[in-house]
Amino acid sequence: MSDCLFCKMASGEIQPDVVYEDDEILAFRDINPQAPVHVLIIPKTHIATLNDLQPEQAPLVGRLFLAAKQIAAEEGIAERGYRTVFNCNAEAGQAVFHLHMHLLGGRPLGWPPG
Ligand code: 5GP
Ligand code: ZN
Repeated sequence: MSDCLFCKMASGEIQPDVVYEDDEILAFRDINPQAPVHVLIIPKTHIATLNDLQPEQAPLVGRLFLAAKQIAAEEGIAERGYRTVFNCNAEAGQAVFHLHMHLLGGRPLGWPPG
């Protein structure tokens, strides 16, 4: 999608601080980190929200989690603990309408979230 911020990152038009990339996935540091480690992991294909996910995209979501696991290990938070979050629509605070997983860690994370 031409007017989507994360599509522009996926295509290389905008260059975030990338921590992982493969053919289908890009992961980069959040510009406004909520924890010492705050990485966004996105599919390169445009999916607006979790509500728009299709059954045939299930393997892609699995690969987002495998990327999260690898990044958590590389960032040194795998054993301490970390959180993965998908915000969907207004009440969850979704601000960018291109599916993304937040990977958060490096400090104790409260539960439940606010
Ligand atoms: P959401 O609220 O949609 O789940 O999360 C969107 C995230 O994208 C926020 O944590 C926000 O800080 C991050 N973000 C928004 N614009 C940019 C940007 O231009 N660069 C990066 N790296 N992160 C961004
Ligand atoms: Zn997009």
